[in-house]
Amino acid sequence: MFDKILIANRGEIALRVIRACREMGIQSVAVHSTTDADAMHVRMADESVCVGPPSSTDSYLSMPAIISACEITGAQAIHPGYGFLSENASFVQMLEDHGITFIGPTAEHIRIMGDKITAKETAKSLGIPVVPGSEGGVEDMDQAREVASEIGYPVIIKATAGGGGRGMKVAADETALEVAFRTARSEAKAAFGNADVYIEKYLQKPRHIEIQVFGDGKGSAVHLGERDCSLQRRHQKVLEEAPGPSITPEERARIGKICADAVATINYAGAGTVEFLYEDGEFYFIEMNTRLQVEHPVTEAVFGVDLVRQQILVAAGKEMEFTQDDLQLNGHAIEVRINAEKVPGFTPSPGRVTQYHAPGGLGVRMDSAIYDGYRIPPYYDSLIGKLIVHGRDRPEALARLSRALGELIVDGIDTTVPLFHELLAEPDIQSGNYSIHWLERWLDKHY
Ligand code: ADP
Repeated sequence: MFDKILIANRGEIALRVIRACREMGIQSVAVHSTTDADAMHVRMADESVCVGPPSSTDSYLSMPAIISACEITGAQAIHPGYGFLSENASFVQMLEDHGITFIGPTAEHIRIMGDKITAKETAKSLGIPVVPGSEGGVEDMDQAREVASEIGYPVIIKATAGGGGRGMKVAADETALEVAFRTARSEAKAAFGNADVYIEKYLQKPRHIEIQVFGDGKGSAVHLGERDCSLQRRHQKVLEEAPGPSITPEERARIGKICADAVATINYAGAGTVEFLYEDGEFYFIEMNTRLQVEHPVTEAVFGVDLVRQQILVAAGKEMEFTQDDLQLNGHAIEVRINAEKVPGFTPSPGRVTQYHAPGGLGVRMDSAIYDGYRIPPYYDSLIGKLIVHGRDRPEALARLSRALGELIVDGIDTTVPLFHELLAEPDIQSGNYSIHWLERWLDKHY
């Protein structure tokens, strides 16, 4: 087993990894920017190294700085968390060349899943159902018109290198297609330095259902059911739950097995998520994330497993601690993302947290790196905490969520907490009857 792991991240996810390390008797190294010198992950880790100025490009994304930090401290492995370098194949390649273990899949697996066109082709060849769309990239307007009329309007134009819901444009008809195609390309170029796009059928009322998979890197893999992440704003998740309110045990077993078999075939190592849109009983693959997801705790709650611990075990060449038969789904879990944002505009609200009190009690987990007096810097994403509740069933989880939200105190800044209080009063949320478009429509109507 490793003696020391470096965590190439910050915030709640850095804490999450440090906790797993400590329980496993592994030393942890935090890296931080100058602005994060007082951050909780720095305080909680056994050692810390400053890797650069506030801008993440020069700190959390600086590969030479992070590799040097590893060498100075003697860390044998890096956990990337999510975001930052977690899906950067060149970084993983560089670590392989330096003899540092990356806690995640191989550079090659990241590469094939990182490029969305290749990912779709790979998924298709592994027997995973995909969204109807262009075969590969779409180069010009003529081709765009041809593809769109073939699959039928509305269509969605997506950046091959896309992520975080950016670089996507919907076109309702041929007139709208031209503008949508051009904007998608220029946005993709600006955001990812790559203007390549592809076209898919735009599904009208799907749910976002994702399957958690876990591979041992040696040809075996399991699935840990699904998460429903349909409650989204601008293609970004706001609330996630497991199991999905609309998924039957039979569907879970069927799609779960398809995904587990697919990643087993390619000798995938560690945690991965296969994302689908789900409509009228059909699953349509959209992408695979080759890392731990923000919303992994809902899966941990219902299966009673520690996914980060398993990631570390597999990266060290050990066996996973469960087989498919060991994994029994128990109860219902819901996570809400607490962002430092002012509702309804969702404008960032950085600044000093004057008072913080985390909720507690049975079935409540609060993953956050904030504390009394902490100053939220304006340089990074606005997620300041995740509140996860677990109950025997969905109604109990909802009641617990409402109760826990009521206990939470975050003073001095604006957060998305009031939004969740309002959402919990909605009959559609109580019944679980919502598609990926529900929240945007609700926001339009209410604000
Ligand atoms: P990203 O990597 O940027 O997050 P995804 O491909 O995972 O992009 O899509 C993010 C979200 O965008 C989905 O959860 C869904 O809400 C929406 N979306 C993507 N593809 C489609 C589609 N074909 N039809 C309808 N909505 C879509």
